[in-house]
Amino acid sequence: MRVGVLKGNGIGPEITSAVLQVLEATGLPLEWVHIPIADEAVERYGHPLPRQVVDALREVKVALKAPLIVNKGEGRLSCVQEDGSEVTYPSLNNAIRRELKLFVNPRPLRGIPGISGRYENLDVVVMREVTEDVYVGWEHRIGDVAAQAIKLTTREAAVRVARYSFDYARRNGRRKVSCLHKANVLNYTDGLFLRCCAEVAREYPDIEFDDYMIDAACYLIIKEPQRFDVVVTPNQYGDILSDLGAGLVGSLGLAPGANIGEVASVFEASHGAAPDIAGKGIANPVALLLSGALLLQHAGHGREAASVVRATRAVLGEGKVLTRDLGGTANTLALAGAIADRVRASDPDRSSA
Ligand code: ATP
Repeated sequence: MRVGVLKGNGIGPEITSAVLQVLEATGLPLEWVHIPIADEAVERYGHPLPRQVVDALREVKVALKAPLIVNKGEGRLSCVQEDGSEVTYPSLNNAIRRELKLFVNPRPLRGIPGISGRYENLDVVVMREVTEDVYVGWEHRIGDVAAQAIKLTTREAAVRVARYSFDYARRNGRRKVSCLHKANVLNYTDGLFLRCCAEVAREYPDIEFDDYMIDAACYLIIKEPQRFDVVVTPNQYGDILSDLGAGLVGSLGLAPGANIGEVASVFEASHGAAPDIAGKGIANPVALLLSGALLLQHAGHGREAASVVRATRAVLGEGKVLTRDLGGTANTLALAGAIADRVRASDPDRSSA
């Protein structure tokens, strides 16, 4: 099975090598296809996301992507399209998603006994729309006195993410989908998003549907997390709510994610490249590892995916090998090694090998 690997920068390379070790411990015949991105792609092709990289990602179909450093205020980049036109994106992460037409970013938030305290039963999946909203990158300056950004919502994108969320709920035995929005202020954009979700909900009478203002949802996920099951939300709210949820679980280092498209899908942690701890070997590899488990599941290897998740939760729950973000002293490789040992031990053929 060929899997693209984008090792990213910041903590990206160190957590990537740790994660590949654990995924190899499943015994699956995985072939890693290294795909250059950012600085490495600039060196090789003169652009951080050249056509060759987009084509390579389409060809492998599934890729594990480590985080990339985002230069605040100067991350915009333009990509030439097949017809010769150019599209400008607000950041490299945004460009990858949109060049590959990845339309939904599912981010599961699941508490871990022994780690998450009063949120150990938290079990919410954030379905973040990732093609539109203010992240469409249509911003401009008005001299140095003002700046404007456009928020885009289309019926097509809202219906697609809503349908994905309801299908996901059905496939995974979930009871409810909640739409999170701010339609009391953004009447037209979030109003359309909410209307589309409500319309799609009527096609799924077996799944409950409700909606909350995003600000109320931030309050309620802290006070009464059991209210939420699957939540579907525009790009920016989903980005923010999933980091908030990672805080409830216990660390950004525990929050995985996927970016699903029709041709290719890219699996990545919710967190960024954490430049403050990069190169020290102390980052938590679990968010990227659980993203790898989502990749295995997406590729039809549910048994191996479940084994990685079980091993991860067991090692974390024991509390003996924890990275610093979780209050421990273990380094990245020690935590990954403990999880890999547990994965091997769960497979009798491999533990005796
Ligand atoms: P982005 O805008 O790309 O999300 P950011 O700079 O806003 O990036 P992160 O890079 O996610 O945010 O880092 C936020 C904080 O969380 C930092 O203090 C960082 O060290 C910490 N952090 C993020 N990921 C991890 C991890 N895997 N292990 C330990 N700490 C992490």
